[in-house]
Amino acid sequence: MKARWTKRMKPLRMNNKSKGLTNNKTSHSSPQITKETPVQYIKGVGPSRAKLLNRLGINNLEDMFFYLPWRYEDRKNLKKIQDLIFGNSETVFCEVVSSQIITTPRKRMKIFELTATDGTGFLNARWFNQAYLKKYFKKGQEVILSGPVKGALIAGAALEMENPDFELYGSDDALIHTARIVPVYKATEGISPKQIRTLMFSTFHSYAFVIEDYLPGKILERNRLRPLQWALKEAHFPEEHNDVSSLNCASSSAHQRLIFDEFFLLELGLAHLKNREAVEQGIPFVVEGELLKRFFQRLPFELTGAQKGVIEEIKSDMARPLPMNRLVHGDVGCGKTVVALASMIIAVGNGYQACLMAPTELLAEQHFINIRRMVEPLGLKAVLLTSAMKNKPVESIAEGDARIVIGTHALIQESVQFHNLGLAIIDEQHRFGVVQRATLRGKGLNPDILIMTATPIPRTLSMTLYGDLDIAVIDELPAGRQPVITKVLFPSQKDRAYSTIHGELSKGRQVYVVYPLIEESEKLDLKSAIDGAEAFRKMFPERKIGLVHGKMHHDERESVMTMFKSGNIDILVATTVIEVGIDVPNASLMLIVHSERFGLAQLHQLRGRIGRGGYDSYCLLMAYPPFSEEAKRRLKAMETTSDGFRIAEEDLAIRGPGDFFGTRQAGLPELRIANLIRDIGLLEKARKEAFDLIEGDPLLEGYPLLKETLHNKWMGRLELVKS
Ligand code: ADP
Ligand code: MG
Repeated sequence: MKARWTKRMKPLRMNNKSKGLTNNKTSHSSPQITKETPVQYIKGVGPSRAKLLNRLGINNLEDMFFYLPWRYEDRKNLKKIQDLIFGNSETVFCEVVSSQIITTPRKRMKIFELTATDGTGFLNARWFNQAYLKKYFKKGQEVILSGPVKGALIAGAALEMENPDFELYGSDDALIHTARIVPVYKATEGISPKQIRTLMFSTFHSYAFVIEDYLPGKILERNRLRPLQWALKEAHFPEEHNDVSSLNCASSSAHQRLIFDEFFLLELGLAHLKNREAVEQGIPFVVEGELLKRFFQRLPFELTGAQKGVIEEIKSDMARPLPMNRLVHGDVGCGKTVVALASMIIAVGNGYQACLMAPTELLAEQHFINIRRMVEPLGLKAVLLTSAMKNKPVESIAEGDARIVIGTHALIQESVQFHNLGLAIIDEQHRFGVVQRATLRGKGLNPDILIMTATPIPRTLSMTLYGDLDIAVIDELPAGRQPVITKVLFPSQKDRAYSTIHGELSKGRQVYVVYPLIEESEKLDLKSAIDGAEAFRKMFPERKIGLVHGKMHHDERESVMTMFKSGNIDILVATTVIEVGIDVPNASLMLIVHSERFGLAQLHQLRGRIGRGGYDSYCLLMAYPPFSEEAKRRLKAMETTSDGFRIAEEDLAIRGPGDFFGTRQAGLPELRIANLIRDIGLLEKARKEAFDLIEGDPLLEGYPLLKETLHNKWMGRLELVKS
C-alpha cells in the first residue's frame, strides 16, 4: 500500500467525467498561457464551465490558483471494513465483489449498487441515478471509497455508504479524492466540489509554471516564508505529513505564506498612499490665534486630558507644510466634536474655509445646530448643506462668505465649489471609503483632512483599515459619566420596561425608544416605529411623544429633534437614524425593541446616546425569541461590558473571519484567507516590511513584478503605481 503514495501529483488519468473535457478540441497545444489567461481556455473548462467558475469569482488562471479550499478532510487514514465506525466519515480500500443496477418500482429511479470487500468484511455502496458507473466497477477492480458510514438494515449484514466519493485504483492513477488530505471547495450549481477538485489538480499539473514569486527574496528570508508556488500547491493538495487541523485553521506554513501576502499587498498599497501624500504641499497654518483662545474661553467645560493631547497633535499636524491626514478615534461620548471644532477654528482663523461631513442628514443637522450656536458669537458664519435642501447655500460657499460648512455627502458633489477649503473633517468615517476621501480632498488644494470615528475597532485593525492615516485616540470620557445599566428583557417582562420608563420620566428625565424598521414588514413581522409611537401615546397619555425616522422631511425632523433637546418631548420614538452623534444629556433611558436584530457595534452606538448627563442611566434590550446563538452572544456582551474596544473584539469574534470590517466597502482589497484577529502577528510583520520597502523605493522601481501584482490587487485604485 505504501507504494501508492509516491504516485501523488503524477499525471492524472482522467476518470469518466473529466475525460470528455480533456479532449476539448478547441484547446490545442496551449499557446501562450499566462496567469491572465481566461479560465475558459484552461484544459478541462470551456465556455459553459467557465460561466460557472466566473460565478465563483474565478475569471482567469491566477484566480483559479487562488481559489483556496474552505476546508480539508482527512481521508488518508484507510480503515479496514471491520473497523468502520457507524456514523463516521471513513475511507476504505477494497475490491469489487459484485455490482448491479436496480430500478425502484415506484419512481423508476436507477440505483447503481456494489458490494466490496477487503477481507475483513463487506461494504455495500450505492449511487442514485448514476447507472453509467456500472462499467467502471468490474469485479476485481480495486477501489477507494470515502463517505459517511450508514448502518445495514438487517443486523449482521454489511455496512453501507451512499453516494461515496470514489477513486478507481489503477497503475497510473493519481489519488485526488481519497486516501489523502482532500481539499473541499465551495461549489455552485452545475459544478460539484469534486469536479472543482479534479479540475484544480489538472490545472496545477499543467500550468503551475505561470505562478511567479513576486516577493523580494530578503522578505521571504527574514520572515521564513516558503515560495509562492510551493505554498499554493500545498494549500490545495497538502502533502501527507500535514496535520489536517492546522490546515483547517490556516496555520500551516502554506497558509501562513498566503496570508502574509494578502496583508503585505494591502499594507504596501497603504504605505504607498501615505507616502504619496507626504510629498505633496499642504498649508502651514498658524495654530495659536486670538480666535482659538476666545473659543476655548467660551467652552462650558474643562477639556479632558485626552482631548487636550489630541488637539496638540492636530496643531502640530496643521502647522506643518504637509497635508494632515489624521484619524481621531474615540468611543461614543468621549467628546470628539469639540476637538473637530477647535481644528475648524484654526483653519478659519487663518482665513480658510472648513467643512464637516456627516454620514446622515440628521447628524449633519444636529452638528449644524450645535456648531452654529458656538461659532456665531465669534462672528463666524456657518451653513448647512444636504441634498434634501431646496435652497442650498452654494453661492455663499463658493464666495467664501460661509466660513464653516456642515453637510452630508452632498458636500462632495460636483456642483459644490469652495472658495478656499483648508480643512475637511469627516465625522463617523466608517461609512466613507478611500475614494470619497480623495474626492473631498479634491475640493481644496490639498486641504488638511481629519477623520473622527467612534467605530470601536481594535487598534491593530484600525492600523490597517486606516493604514494611510496617522491615528490619535481619545481614551478618556469626560468626568461624571455614569456607566449605563444594561438589561435584556423578554416580551413577558414588558411591564417592567414600562414602569422603568415611567420612573425616569417622573424624575424629569427623557427616554429614547428605538425600532429597527420604519414600516411594518410582513416578512419579519417587526413592530414599526410608527405603530410604536401610537402605542406609547396611548400608554403614556399625559406625556409628549415624538417620532423621527429617515423618511421624514428634514425640517420636520429638525423640529422634532429640537423639541426633544429642549425637553418639550418626553419620549422620542425613533429608527436607527439616531444611531450616531445625537447628544441630549437629559435622556437617561433607551429601550431598544427587537434588539436581537441589531448588530453589536450598532447596539453600542445606540447605547452611547445615553449616560451623558451624569444621571443613572438604563439601556433596556427587548428581545423576541426565538433568536440565534449569535444574537444571544451579542446581547450578553452588551450586558457585560460598556468598553467599546472589548465590544469590538467580541463583535469580530462573533462575526468570524468572513465578514470583517468591510475592507471592500472602505475601498481596500478584499482579504480572502487572512483574518485580522487570528493573524495579527503576520499583519504586523507584513506592515513593517511593506512600509520599509516603500520608504526605500517609493515607486517600487526595483520590483516590477511586485508593482504589477500590487496594481492588480488594488484594481487600479492606486493610479500612480501604474508606470
Ligand atoms: P462624541 O465623541 O460621541 O462625538 P460628543 O462630542 O458628542 O461625543 O460629546 C458628548 C457630550 O459630552 C457633549 O454633550 C459634549 O458637550 C460633552 N463634552 C465633551 N467634552 C467634554 C468635557 N471635557 N467635559 C464635559 N463634557 C464634555
Ligand atoms: Mg460625534
